[in-house]
Amino acid sequence: MIIDELPDRQYPVVVVGTGFGALFFVHKLLQLQPATKVLMLERGPFRSWETQVAEGHNSHIRSDETFKATGIPKFWNFTIAYGGGTNCWGANTPRMHPNDFRQGTLYGRGQDWPLSYDDLEPYYSAAEQIMDISGPDDLHRITPRSLPYPQPPHRLSAVDRIMKTAQPDMHFALPSARSRVATKQRPQCCASFDCEHCPIGAKFTVHNGFAHIMDATNVLTLVEAEVIELERSSPSAISGVRFRWRGREHRVGCDVCVLGANAIHSPAILLRSGFDDPLLGRGLNEQLGVAVEVLLDGLDSMDGSTISTGANYAFYDGPFRAERGAIFMVFDNDFPYGLRKEFGRWRQTLSIRSAIADELNDENRVSVNEQGEAVVHYVGNSAYTERALEHYLEHLPQVLAPLPVERIVDKGLRRTQSHVQGTLRMGARPADSVVDDGQIHHHVRNLVVVGTSVMPTCPPVQPSLTAAALSLRAADLMFGAQS
Ligand SMILES: Cc1cc2nc3c(=O)[nH]c(=O)nc-3n(C[C@H](O)[C@H](O)[C@H](O)COP(=O)(O)OP(=O)(O)OC[C@H]3O[C@@H](n4cnc5c(N)ncnc54)[C@H](O)[C@@H]3O)c2cc1C
Ligand code: SF4
Repeated sequence: MIIDELPDRQYPVVVVGTGFGALFFVHKLLQLQPATKVLMLERGPFRSWETQVAEGHNSHIRSDETFKATGIPKFWNFTIAYGGGTNCWGANTPRMHPNDFRQGTLYGRGQDWPLSYDDLEPYYSAAEQIMDISGPDDLHRITPRSLPYPQPPHRLSAVDRIMKTAQPDMHFALPSARSRVATKQRPQCCASFDCEHCPIGAKFTVHNGFAHIMDATNVLTLVEAEVIELERSSPSAISGVRFRWRGREHRVGCDVCVLGANAIHSPAILLRSGFDDPLLGRGLNEQLGVAVEVLLDGLDSMDGSTISTGANYAFYDGPFRAERGAIFMVFDNDFPYGLRKEFGRWRQTLSIRSAIADELNDENRVSVNEQGEAVVHYVGNSAYTERALEHYLEHLPQVLAPLPVERIVDKGLRRTQSHVQGTLRMGARPADSVVDDGQIHHHVRNLVVVGTSVMPTCPPVQPSLTAAALSLRAADLMFGAQS
């Protein structure tokens, strides 16, 4: 329930942010303890979906105006508004590969995650049910699953059908939270290609997916309330949260604090609060995005049922990951470079957007300046990623060999993948991480960190399904039978 005055000054649970990490945590908490009183503090405004579609943007607050930057210029993209990234996201939802969780042991690159694929699997399945994900059963071969996808896969394009026949173990329908079939809340995706502001509401958002949280009378949400810092009563406990609202500073007390303000603002809040963990704020990352257009010779494509239809794993996993990063390829069903101009060939084009895993660099980091503002220091992506890029561009023609390819046009690097990650990584020990495998701060035991900031490596897949599953698990560990 959105409120415009604060009824109480003390809450059992205070949640910072209302994005993926925060909402899925609260969803699970309400399942386990339906009557618990929760206060959610959201920096951005509440914007109905109709307003977002009508105005053509998710929030009037630009992400790059919320922090300062030094070093190599780079665009970090996120939404500051009620619902966070559930508003703007494209709704692609692959799971991480089982080997992504142990890339330190297997490939000597980065850290192992403090939990395994099998530990997270039931929560992946639960998150997929909540979001009514559409996906193919045969993807089980790469990412094993205990429950079928709630919705059938999207219709493949002509390109995907050829790739699937030639590479049945590598090419799959891309899982997504864009409806394949209509549900009570969402119509069927009609492939209109403006997913940030989906005109028909076919993708999962807070507005069509978490009405029970928005309506719950024991979940109070204050919007345009910017959390400044967390207050500690002792070195091991948070006692309250300080925030700015309607031009004044306020304080609320809490028994448990859930921090989900994204991978730039969550570390900034902890730094302003005097936390000094060695890895706090370090390892900010996202994948390196690379785009190509494939001009097709005589093959009319773009007959799939959503904006992106194919996922290809040819460059994803293997011993090569000791030397170069994993790559996840997304085959689009739209035409970001326009239709072909030649008479009769307008649909003979294919856009492929691939994401290359980066290696965490502690010099890519978030700090705060004297005014308390978040500052991003960026020194660039790793040589590990560059080697993968070089290999990809050289070997892409072999992977695309089943297609009638006229020419591959390198469209260059994407300015962002829109995935801010790292900075409060999870791990087994305080020396290599900020939070433990249950996402609880190693020393401050009533502080849970949620969202993509806890990711200790940069897998090549989109991160939000994983952030959702992690939140369900963290809430279960904290409030469920095992707690
Ligand atoms: C254009 C775009 C397309 C994307 N497409 C995909 C996709 O297809 N698949 C995918 O998996 N991911 C996608 N993402 C990424 C996805 O949005 C993020 O991975 C996800 O939102 C991260 O979840 P989070 O909980 O960490 O942060 P968020 O969802 O960003 O939530 C953080 C919340 O904290 C609030 N906040 C920030 N600072 C404060 C403060 N000081 N006080 C109070 N509140 C605060 C924010 O307003 C926000 O509500 C996309 C992102 C963008 C921008
Ligand atoms: S492709 Fe169109 S209908 Fe489908 S989710 Fe995107 S904007 Fe909505």
